[in-house]
Amino acid sequence: MKREALALEVTSVVLGASREFLAKEGFVELLPVILAPVTDPLRTTPEWATITAYGHTWYLTRSMIFHKQAAVRVHPKIFCFSPNVRLEPRERAHTGRHLFEFVQLDLEVRDATREDVMDLGERLLLHVLSEVRRECGRALAAWGRELPDYPRPFPRITWHEAHREFGENFETELSRRSKTPVWLVDFPIDQREFYDREDPDRPGILRDMDLLYPEGFGEGLSGGEREYQGERIRARILRQGLSLEAYRPLLALAEDGLCPSAGFGIGVERLVRFLCGFPHIAETRLFPRVPGEHALL
Ligand code: ASP
Ligand code: MG
Repeated sequence: MKREALALEVTSVVLGASREFLAKEGFVELLPVILAPVTDPLRTTPEWATITAYGHTWYLTRSMIFHKQAAVRVHPKIFCFSPNVRLEPRERAHTGRHLFEFVQLDLEVRDATREDVMDLGERLLLHVLSEVRRECGRALAAWGRELPDYPRPFPRITWHEAHREFGENFETELSRRSKTPVWLVDFPIDQREFYDREDPDRPGILRDMDLLYPEGFGEGLSGGEREYQGERIRARILRQGLSLEAYRPLLALAEDGLCPSAGFGIGVERLVRFLCGFPHIAETRLFPRVPGEHALL
């Protein structure tokens, strides 16, 4: 089988197996939102993609984080295959992990803790892995890719421990040395976006996490508990030097009452890249959007 066809088959199993798993867990699937008056601040991606329509500026979705927080007011468990546009700097074309248009499996659970969604994430990933092995194992083996069955729970390490042990480049180092997926938890407050919840018992530390794939494939999932109280959201926006005006829609929602929740997003193409063992994420899409490059179609 050609590599392009293999990527399509693996992607298809990833989508089907995730939907099946989440339906059994009681989740409902939201249709994606592509244009919105407010989207994820993502401070490490400074450029914004917008369109003007009907006299207003609309942002192309960077993540559905705020829509997820709004949606769990209506249903306790929601997920979405959400197309995201993030205008990554050109240099990120060479990481092998960045596309400027990608899809993430984004989910959120009302009244959940970080530990609840980490447990869910492990079971989801292992289910997808076993379905991919079952459906595509032979085709993957023909390209030299064997997928092991990882034991649970995955190891976890705090941001500070990882930083101390592996230095500035800890994420790459940790992913390269690890034989199983590994959780990176407890990011310092100024390393992440304002919506990740500060630990009430440990000021300055967030109740959030990333999941790193083994073999150097790097980060594949980010999430955590959320700030949901208006006062706290306002303080966190200001702490990051952002404008309250820009996040007025979120503050209005919070005033009306947001629920405590936790969730995460898994980059679909990053997951497929890891499962296929491809060096570059562009190989996972028929029509990849590589930062800085144009496309025929
Ligand atoms: N969607 C992610 C989350 O749930 C954030 C992201 O898109 O990076 O935290
Ligand atoms: Mg992330």
